[in-house]
Amino acid sequence: MSQPIEFIEPLTDEQGAQQATDLFTKTFSAQPNGVWASPGRVNLIGEHTDYNAGLCLPIALPHRTYIAIRPRTDTTVRVVSTLDPSDVRTADLAGLQARGVKGWAAYPIGVAWALRQAGFTSVTGFDAAFASCVPLGSGLSSSAAMTCSTALALDGIFDLGKGDSDEGRLTLIDAAIKSENEMAGASTGGLDQSASLRCTAGHALLLDFRPGLSATQSATQEDCDFARYGVELLVLDTRAPHSLNDGQYELRRQTCERAAQQLGVKNLREVADKVFAAGNPKDALAGALALLPDQIMRQRVRHVITEIGRVPQFVQAFARGDMNKAGELMNQSGDSLRYDYEVTIPELDTAVDVARKCGAFGARMTGGGFGGSIIALVKAGTGRQIAQKIADEFARREFRAPRALSAVPSVSGHRVQ
Ligand code: ADP
Ligand code: MG
Repeated sequence: MSQPIEFIEPLTDEQGAQQATDLFTKTFSAQPNGVWASPGRVNLIGEHTDYNAGLCLPIALPHRTYIAIRPRTDTTVRVVSTLDPSDVRTADLAGLQARGVKGWAAYPIGVAWALRQAGFTSVTGFDAAFASCVPLGSGLSSSAAMTCSTALALDGIFDLGKGDSDEGRLTLIDAAIKSENEMAGASTGGLDQSASLRCTAGHALLLDFRPGLSATQSATQEDCDFARYGVELLVLDTRAPHSLNDGQYELRRQTCERAAQQLGVKNLREVADKVFAAGNPKDALAGALALLPDQIMRQRVRHVITEIGRVPQFVQAFARGDMNKAGELMNQSGDSLRYDYEVTIPELDTAVDVARKCGAFGARMTGGGFGGSIIALVKAGTGRQIAQKIADEFARREFRAPRALSAVPSVSGHRVQ
């Protein structure tokens, strides 16, 4: 047997605020004006659908990134993170260009840049210190936890008036996405940032990414009480190196865009809607795929279309407490990501296989893939045991030791102090 698997416990808001504040005062020799927090997320189903105007279903984790912040009167920004307290990064917002900040500081500084670009001229410089218990690069969206906590904090200190309503938060989400895409150079479709700023405790967020929808049309809160159905959601971080910046994610996006062009539609959602409205969806899907020029593109599109179809089915199965059906849909999603979309790696496949063998209702990779985490819907009280079994198999295969956490649908970003 391998070492006992580590479970990552979330910080309480008090602990998170304390850590961020301590780092702030030590670094900048002043008190922060306030502390904000925003969570990482895990997506239950609907993967690689956000950039196809599709559907997805994330929950917010209890694991959050905390930002202690103080405005400045000039345009200088200084940021520091508990990851390396000696590494204070500085930038000047005046004249800042896309990709003008390198490394981790691009994420928070890019948010201020994006808000200024969007016309929020009251946003000036600031000092900020970050503390986080969201594992980095694990597919649980530490990047969105950072950009969204920053967006909320800037909203607070510069009185933008967007943070208090779901609709206002759409503006903050846009700034967080723009920061990741254009300052950090990370291609991201909006799922992570929407989850971090729109989820509510005890609910999964059903997101619809069709363009032009209002706040109320684009999201609904779906009851998600695992305990009521005698289940728990195990999240296991494989700790395999993960990067969405190496071009694979972008390549998938481009293939989807080319496929949409080929089919004469704006996005693959339009195809999905037609397929599922048809008398025989299977034939309709086969008909659409037959119009595509190559096998790879057909596989990618098949994933996107079938995955969009699985999201409402999962919501319905969950609402009637049918965990077998919900699990089966998770398995189908996982297999589609593995064989059609080809975004898994041996660590993800191994973790999923072991979880299923140990009796999970369903298990699949979650997030962008190429590393990161899996989720498994398991009988309440069995998560630790199953996580340990996965860790044992990882040790046998000489993979890095994984870590785990238990996911409870939690609140979105908020002011802590
Ligand atoms: P994920 O969002 O799945 O965790 P990403 O690669 O999208 O993975 O984002 C991880 C990156 O975000 C890190 O490499 C780092 O640049 C930045 N980051 C996130 N959280 C922190 C933090 N607390 N301190 C410093 N940088 C962070
Ligand atoms: Mg990310």
